Amino acid sequence: MDKVEIAQDEVVAIDAIALGVVGLKIAFVNVFGVSHEDGSWTLIDAGIPFSASRIKSWAKETFGRPPNAIVLTHGHFDHVSGAEELAEVWDVPVYAHRLEFPYLRGEKEYPAPNWAAGGGVMPLMSPTLPRGPVDLGERLRALPEEGAELTLAELPGWTLLHTPGHTPGHVSFFRESDGTLLVGDAFCTTKPESFFAANFMQPAELHGPPSYFTSDWEQAKASVRKLAALRPATVAPGHGKPLAGEGVAAALERLAAEFEALAVPENVKQGSEPRHKES
Ligand SMILES: [Zn+2]
Ligand SMILES: [Zn+2]
Repeated sequence: MDKVEIAQDEVVAIDAIALGVVGLKIAFVNVFGVSHEDGSWTLIDAGIPFSASRIKSWAKETFGRPPNAIVLTHGHFDHVSGAEELAEVWDVPVYAHRLEFPYLRGEKEYPAPNWAAGGGVMPLMSPTLPRGPVDLGERLRALPEEGAELTLAELPGWTLLHTPGHTPGHVSFFRESDGTLLVGDAFCTTKPESFFAANFMQPAELHGPPSYFTSDWEQAKASVRKLAALRPATVAPGHGKPLAGEGVAAALERLAAEFEALAVPENVKQGSEPRHKES
């Protein structure tokens, strides 16, 4: 697997990504807070296990009030683990795409990971990976799925994009007014081996979605194309640093155009791992 290089001056601070958009990196994954004009805000993703108290204190310091909702890009354990506790404490709904529901209602586990996809972090994590699926119970709500413009009342000014491939119901969020794009795990801005690197050591470069857990590579490619077509000015991923600047849209276009070479793992290309996994 290769990468698209990013000029280091296009890295932006996670606590000042774009107007009203801030993030928090916990271990190897980011969560985001998006503020709205009326003073409310929305939490995007909810981190790894045992991050709830960290997110809670960050939210208090940063926003001084609970969010209006928690919105999930997808249901992987590193994006949802704080959701149950936080939703309870804050008394807010948790939104996700309906195709993620089986994994968020305790009904189903994601397909087995492709351990041989290369890159080092997840095997190290494997002893701590939660076994059973998450169950968000009654608080879980479905994101809108149909219509020309998919929007959510809690996220005014943002468009929802279904970007499947990494998981069936993966979604991304785009604010057209300033070209800010939150991509979850549709792609990363660091290589998986660098997920745990100290901040200054973590080089910014575009990579495909985290490969161990990506279940459909054809869809993943189509989703990166869809995101590249937006020509974003700022991108903030679940893994890696947020980026902003002139070169971002061009770099994303290159990732989309050369997706096979840059993102699809060797054992998928060679056919020893299927391109589409039963989910
Ligand atoms: Zn994921
Ligand atoms: Zn992730």
